[in-house]
Amino acid sequence: MKRPARRRIEVGLLGATGMVGQQFAALLDRHPWFRLTWLAASERSTGKRYGEIPWRLASAMPDAASKMTIEEPEPRKAPNVVFSALDASVAGEIEAEFAAAGHIVVSNARNHRMDPVVPLLIPEVNPEHLGILRAQKKAKGWRGALVTNPNCSTIFLAMALAALRELEPRRVVVTTMQALSGAGHPGVASLDALGNVIPFISGEEEKIENETRKILGRICGETFAPAAIAISAQATRVPVLNGHTEAVSVGFSERVSTEEIREAFRKFSGKPQELGLPSAPSAAIVYNDAADRPQPRLDAERFGGMAVQTGRLRPCPVMGHKFVLLGHNTIRGAAGAAILNAELMRAEGVIQ
Ligand code: NAP
Repeated sequence: MKRPARRRIEVGLLGATGMVGQQFAALLDRHPWFRLTWLAASERSTGKRYGEIPWRLASAMPDAASKMTIEEPEPRKAPNVVFSALDASVAGEIEAEFAAAGHIVVSNARNHRMDPVVPLLIPEVNPEHLGILRAQKKAKGWRGALVTNPNCSTIFLAMALAALRELEPRRVVVTTMQALSGAGHPGVASLDALGNVIPFISGEEEKIENETRKILGRICGETFAPAAIAISAQATRVPVLNGHTEAVSVGFSERVSTEEIREAFRKFSGKPQELGLPSAPSAAIVYNDAADRPQPRLDAERFGGMAVQTGRLRPCPVMGHKFVLLGHNTIRGAAGAAILNAELMRAEGVIQ
């Protein structure tokens, strides 16, 4: 006999009108576990129907969301579980207010990521970091909880390094080539972006270097001990629509072979795959054998935008080995990452 479907959990969305907010609305449409019932943004959007805002994704705006009215970001009327795609200028305060009021906030914004009692979660890499929520409750006195996902470029790098954990990576040099959609809308002016490479993204290099160490670290008492790995990042903005590419060189504690690294990428898997979470890609890392892949235009949307794609693995005369990776910045790097976090939290009983 077919089991009756479980009732979906109502969720809200802070920052619903932005680049990432729209991706959330698209990914949550017909989600098997979550039902989007509440949208909020700034006073510029409050009171408008979602269908009235300029829609910037190639897929159609979900019908159910288009009929909803955008509300003020106030905890009172919001459902218990709230995703946040708020601009960083306001996310810190608003998210804390929701968590204090008893909501479970699953955030994308940078504000709370490096807080010593806030998990910086990638379900394939550090699911055990949810264990810090006990210390969070004690330290903050919040009735609810706050969980963050890392910066987009950081997620892709941390997943690749997690796959190589047993080989003991110790030194990493990474150069990112980041898509324009990563800067939100309207983002970088077209006259600055087209036919150009901008060798600076404010705060990005520090996020890649610091967040990666926290993610690969471990819980130690009531905080995190960062992983002992040296990371040097250079971030650039390139005229690509979606998909961040990263050129990575890695040095290991001992000599490892190219084949060992390729094999580690191929067999990498984690809790989302084990538990069959709805947004989990069947392979968290896909290794591409073609000499000229992965490429953002051809590959960013593959695997539902949820897998990290690697390729061009070869020896590096300076560091040990080098390779290229690619991830979809607004899906695996933002909205899809937060939704996968919430799915893990539900599977682990953090979201009831
Ligand atoms: P965005 O397009 O600029 O959208 C920002 C959102 O915040 C909009 O919904 C905006 O509402 C809302 N907002 C701004 N001021 C507000 C206020 N005072 N009160 C309430 N809501 C306010 O930015 P985005 O690219 O979607 O990024 C959203 C967040 O995700 C940021 O924290 C960003 O750093 C992070 N992130 C982005 C990416 C990416 O690839 N784009 C990746 C990872 C993480 P209005 O439309 O009403 O102004």
